[in-house]
Amino acid sequence: MKYVSTRGSAPVLEFGDVLLAGLATDGGLYVPDEWPAQPELGFDASYADWATALMAPYVAPSLSRDELSAMVTEAYATFAHPDVCPVRPIDDGLWLLELFWGPTIAFKDVALQLVGRLFDHELTKRGERATIVVATSGDTGSAAIEACRGRANLDIVVLHPAGRVSDVQRRQMTTVDEPNVHNVAVDGTFDDCQEAVKAMFADVAFREAVGLSAMNSINWARVMAQTVYYATSARTVGAGDPVGFSVPTGNFGNVFAGWVARRTGTPISQLVVASNSNDILPRWLASGVMETRGVHPTISPSMDIQVSSNVERLLFELYDRNPSLLADRMAEFKDEGTVATGDTRLATVTEVFDGVAFDDEAIRAEIRRTYEATGEVLDPHTAVGVAAARASRRDPDVPVICLATAHPAKFPDAVESAIGIRPELPEHLADLLERTERFDALPPGPGRHPGLRPHRHGPLRSRHPVQEGHPSG
Ligand SMILES: *Cc1c(COP(=O)(O)O)cnc(C)c1O
Repeated sequence: MKYVSTRGSAPVLEFGDVLLAGLATDGGLYVPDEWPAQPELGFDASYADWATALMAPYVAPSLSRDELSAMVTEAYATFAHPDVCPVRPIDDGLWLLELFWGPTIAFKDVALQLVGRLFDHELTKRGERATIVVATSGDTGSAAIEACRGRANLDIVVLHPAGRVSDVQRRQMTTVDEPNVHNVAVDGTFDDCQEAVKAMFADVAFREAVGLSAMNSINWARVMAQTVYYATSARTVGAGDPVGFSVPTGNFGNVFAGWVARRTGTPISQLVVASNSNDILPRWLASGVMETRGVHPTISPSMDIQVSSNVERLLFELYDRNPSLLADRMAEFKDEGTVATGDTRLATVTEVFDGVAFDDEAIRAEIRRTYEATGEVLDPHTAVGVAAARASRRDPDVPVICLATAHPAKFPDAVESAIGIRPELPEHLADLLERTERFDALPPGPGRHPGLRPHRHGPLRSRHPVQEGHPSG
């Protein structure tokens, strides 16, 4: 398998290089040069069996199937459910695909538990070390720490804005007692953290001295790992017949993985892009115009984005994989904050994608409705997906699988504000609030490091910020 950049002027690479590179040198995102066909496995195949079979074509020749299989088995053994990503019926034709059984109880573990191991393996092979740097306001920081902790060839440094992440989220990061894990509480906003990280990457000498690297959601390996649960859950629920998916969406990495699953053979008739008040994608799907409007803080913070970076991979397909056409449009979008994609081209997208957005009141109402009807407690991100599935379902005979992207205990305040119940942390995190915290504090401000200058005004400046590109980190 070879990988090409969506902008067309970066070197063609194999998986191992794409993994460590993240973003392509021309500012584009790496995609496979052709889409493989999915294999067929028997009904007794485990999640790890499926993961190995589905991902093997993408990692060859950098990794053998046995090497991949060993890492997959280890990665998914960290999940607290034997099915890894179990799927259950909740309501009339609606299913919940639970992606929160990993160490940090949110869906980013599904990809990052594997990606941490892939990084370590690739670095060992090369005799290199890397320093992973992450800016976070929530989920990604802890998922990346769990992915990297104790790995011989990795250090991880996570910057979070002091006092602006929830207790649970901060403690999931700062109570990890491993010598290669470093937390920094920046006296500033998430943007200040993001700016600091960008400045570190911009400092070439520093970058090379510490082997700076990222595991952001634009990394192909994360998308790849997320295709697996679409295939396994579609098979469980649809048994070969088409199913729909509803996906709480921020950076578009998760729902794009659904598109890849469909493109490579999973029978998917509908992909619902479920947004909170940050509704750039539903507006695009309705109008053909993608226009940024600044970030709006919500009770589903991991979806608070201005620009969904992974959309570029879909646009690449929309423009018939013509990188120069795409590069022009991306430049236009960067300069003007808006771009029109054209009716005929958009029709190929809306054939499968629907988009719908909900504000905080509607999200609380969905948490309440589902709780009253089924007894199921949804986290605010998952609730966006369930509300979107109810609103956008195309065919009552086709089941819709709603992706549950976080455990409700990760966002107890939002859940309590909706139904008056404070969900409890699962057993492995039950003593989280008593564990000892460890972090360094760093003031922002000019003169310390260029990146630590406060940058509170104006939009994020990069389309592909070094971390997630949105406050979920
Ligand atoms: C990151 C995240 C999302 C958004 O996923 P994308 O791949 O960025 O679209 C949704 N829900 C939760 C809980 C998340 O952590």
